[in-house]
Amino acid sequence: MRVLLVEDDEMLGQGLHEALSRKGWSVDWVKEGALALSAIADGDYACVLLDLGLPGMDGIEVLRRVRQGGNKTPLLVLTARDALDQRIDGLDLGADDYLVKPYALSELLARMRAVIRRRDGAAQSVIGEDGALQLDLGTREVLIQGVRSQLSAREFALLHALMERPGTILSREQLENRIYGWGEEVGPNALDVLIHGMRRKLGAQAIRNVRGLGWRVEPRSAGGTA
Ligand code: CA
Repeated sequence: MRVLLVEDDEMLGQGLHEALSRKGWSVDWVKEGALALSAIADGDYACVLLDLGLPGMDGIEVLRRVRQGGNKTPLLVLTARDALDQRIDGLDLGADDYLVKPYALSELLARMRAVIRRRDGAAQSVIGEDGALQLDLGTREVLIQGVRSQLSAREFALLHALMERPGTILSREQLENRIYGWGEEVGPNALDVLIHGMRRKLGAQAIRNVRGLGWRVEPRSAGGTA
């Protein structure tokens, strides 16, 4: 899944970028508020990590504009220990949660999963219908007729994008935006290879191609007919 990291501190940003990438996240990193705004407007992020002390437009202003514009992307504020007022401002303005620096990576990851889950439907961590294809957002496993199997980070991102809105067709560009980060080498066939692999795992009908338009999962996809 893709995360936008907004952090002007070179060392902190570099460290987080590497750590999150190692955990399978596709990370886009910006160091200024204005760039963060346009990235959030253009990108389809599972989550945004927002530092408040930024040069130019600060994080609070970024947050204000994002929420005023109606964008509901899950957003975690990263603040310094002494910035209690800012933290409260942030929550008032619609941040989903905040973390005080320095924090443990494991805690950051847990909070990220929590805000994403919350966005995906109040405390419900499994999406999809019983007995059909389901996705556990907490463990990142797919359930086929209730039988669980593990997914890679990209497989999960693909399936999550499609299963959020069953029946909706997502284009190649929309899917690539959800799965890959900026500057990531994405070969012309990468998405096709990924989808091919998923069909082998889930069944040929699990992900339908709609010629010329994109792909979708049917509202009840597992065991569907051709
Ligand atoms: Ca900063």
